[in-house]
Amino acid sequence: MPRTTANALLNNVWGDRGFPVDPVWIANELGLDVVETQISNEVSGALLKEAEQDPVIILNQNDSNVRKRFTCAHELGHYIRRTENGTSLEYQFIDYRGKLSSKGIDPEEIFANQFAACLLMPEKEVRRLAEAKYSPVMMSSYFGVSDDAIRFRLSKLGLR
Ligand SMILES: [Zn+2]
Repeated sequence: MPRTTANALLNNVWGDRGFPVDPVWIANELGLDVVETQISNEVSGALLKEAEQDPVIILNQNDSNVRKRFTCAHELGHYIRRTENGTSLEYQFIDYRGKLSSKGIDPEEIFANQFAACLLMPEKEVRRLAEAKYSPVMMSSYFGVSDDAIRFRLSKLGLR
């Protein structure tokens, strides 16, 4: 379950560092390298693992900060799922734009997207802010996510 895994990471790794959650920091703690680089604008991000190397998350340096944060959390989701199913020496995921936002039917992508949403916008905190009458715009800034991401999360949780 992406939600359970994301919450466990928040509790055990991120701790009480507050919001916005920093997915790059968490990835580094787990032993992944995160690099921003000039890549094709059709690509939002990638997760690469080569034999005897640390896994690497690649982000598109031309993307906005909120997009990079979500992509990093998404790639971390791929890593978590891959690690849960036993470690393998080499693998790679490359995320093309458009595919990421569409709901899709690929279980890997569904897991990664749900994981990213749960990591950056934990249900408990979203509900707390909703009760405190935060607007979606205030929430997107609080969680460091895009307007689309928070609206999608709110509707998923039945709060909009
Ligand atoms: Zn993906």
